[in-house]
Amino acid sequence: MNDIAIVGGGAGGLILASKLAKEMGDELRNGRISITIFDGSQNHEFQPGYLGVAFRGSRPSRMQRSLTQLIYPGVKLVHENCSVIDIENRYVITEKSVNRYNFDTIVVATGCLTDPGQIPGLSEANHDFHTNASKSAELYERMSRVKSGKIVVGIAGLPYKCPPSPNEGAFMADEFFAKRKMREKVEITFVTPYLRAYPAEPISEVITPMYEDRNIDIVTGFNLDYVDPQKKEILSLEGDSLEYDELILVPPHRTVDVVKKSDFVDKYGWVITDKRDMHIKDYDYAFSIGDNTNIPISKAGVEAHLQAITVASNIIEDYKGGTDKYLFTGRMQCSMETGYHQATFVVGTYERPVEKKFPSTINYVEKKFMERIYWSSLKGGYEWLFRMHFGDDYIQKISQIKPPRQISRPETQK
Ligand SMILES: Cc1cc2nc3c(=O)[nH]c(=O)nc-3n(C[C@H](O)[C@H](O)[C@H](O)COP(=O)(O)OP(=O)(O)OC[C@H]3O[C@@H](n4cnc5c(N)ncnc54)[C@H](O)[C@@H]3O)c2cc1C
Repeated sequence: MNDIAIVGGGAGGLILASKLAKEMGDELRNGRISITIFDGSQNHEFQPGYLGVAFRGSRPSRMQRSLTQLIYPGVKLVHENCSVIDIENRYVITEKSVNRYNFDTIVVATGCLTDPGQIPGLSEANHDFHTNASKSAELYERMSRVKSGKIVVGIAGLPYKCPPSPNEGAFMADEFFAKRKMREKVEITFVTPYLRAYPAEPISEVITPMYEDRNIDIVTGFNLDYVDPQKKEILSLEGDSLEYDELILVPPHRTVDVVKKSDFVDKYGWVITDKRDMHIKDYDYAFSIGDNTNIPISKAGVEAHLQAITVASNIIEDYKGGTDKYLFTGRMQCSMETGYHQATFVVGTYERPVEKKFPSTINYVEKKFMERIYWSSLKGGYEWLFRMHFGDDYIQKISQIKPPRQISRPETQK
C-alpha cells in the first residue's frame, strides 16, 4: 500500500492528484495506493482572474469553483486544513481532528498568502487584487467611485506571486480610466523596489516606453518602509515619499502557518526544495510544489503545473519500478496583460534567460484561451496541448541505466 498525501488542493495539488489518479487508476481501484488531498477551502479560485474582477468588474463567482467538483474520481478529499505536517514521522493532523493521517509519500502544495501586516499602515490604507476575488471586487467598487486624483499602483514588498501582475495593474488602471473618458483627471504612478520597470531587463525594455506613452510615472528603487494613512503618503527606506489618493499595492507574501512553523523551511519560511526533482531537503519521500517552495524563480501557476507533472511522473515511475527520472526545467511563462487587448509573456527556463517579447493581440488571445481551459486542466485535461506547447521545456526525462543484475555463480564453478 502506498498512501499519498497532498496538502493543498490548489493549482499544483489538483493537477498532481489528477495525473496520479489518471495513470494509476488500476492501483487506485485495487486499493494498492490511495491519494488524499487535504484542503479546508470550499472553493478553488482562478487567481489570474482577480485582475479582471478588480479592473473590469468581472463577477467574482466566475473565478470560483467548488473544490469538490475539481477532485478527480478516486481521489479522496479531507475537507480540512492541516495543522501539523510531520514529515519525519510520516503523518499529518487536520485542524478539527485529533487523528493522525499516516502517509508513505507527501506533497506540500499550500501556496502562499498576502501578508500586508509586515508593513505598518498597509492593511489600513491599501486595496489589493492578490488576496481573493471578493477583495478584488471591493477594489473595483473603489475605482468606480474615483473622480480624480493620484493612483499609486505597484509592489509593497517581496516576494509575491505572479511577477508581472503589478505592471498589469498599472496598465489596466490606465485602461479603466481611459474607457471612462477621465484619464486626464487621474495621475497614475507605478512604484517598485526594483531598479527598472520589470526585474528581467528584456521585458523592462519592452514595457518602459509603454509607461511613457500612457503617461504613467515610474518610481524605481522604492522599498516601502511604512504607509501613513492619515497623510495618505507612502514612505521608503531610502527616505523618499509619495502621496496617493488610492493605494493599490501588491503586499509581500508568506507561507501558511502550518508550513511556516515546520522544520523543513528556510529562515524566511519557504519550503527547502530541490529545484529539479522538487524533493524536500533530507527526504526522498516528501516533495514541495508551487508557491510554497524556496526555488528562486517566479511563483506562478505554470510553474506549479509543471512541477506537479514532474513530481507525479517520478512517483509513478518509482511505484512501477522504472528507472527514468523526471526533472523540472525551470520553465516559466507568466502572461502580462498590457491593456487594450494586448499581452506579452515572460518566458524562460533555468538555462535560458527571459526572452524579449513584445505585446500582441495573439498573445492576448492565447492568455484568454488558457483561462478557458483552466478548470479542465486541473483535472488533467489538455495535457497533450501543454506538452506540445512547452516542447522540450515541458519536463526533462533522464533515462537512467539499470544497475547490472547480480548473478550468483553456482558453487561448483568457483
Ligand atoms: C493577481 C494574480 C494574477 C496571477 N496571474 C497568473 C498568470 O497569469 N499565470 C500564472 O501562471 N500564474 C498566475 N498567478 C499565480 C497563480 O495563481 C499561483 O501561482 C498558483 O495558484 C499557485 O498554485 P499553488 O498550488 O502553489 O497554490 P494555490 O493555487 O494558491 O493553492 C494552495 C492551496 O493550499 C490550500 N491550503 C492552504 N493552507 C492549507 C493547510 N493548512 N492545509 C491544507 N491546505 C491548505 C489552499 O486552500 C489552496 O487551495 C496569479 C496570481 C494572482 C494573485
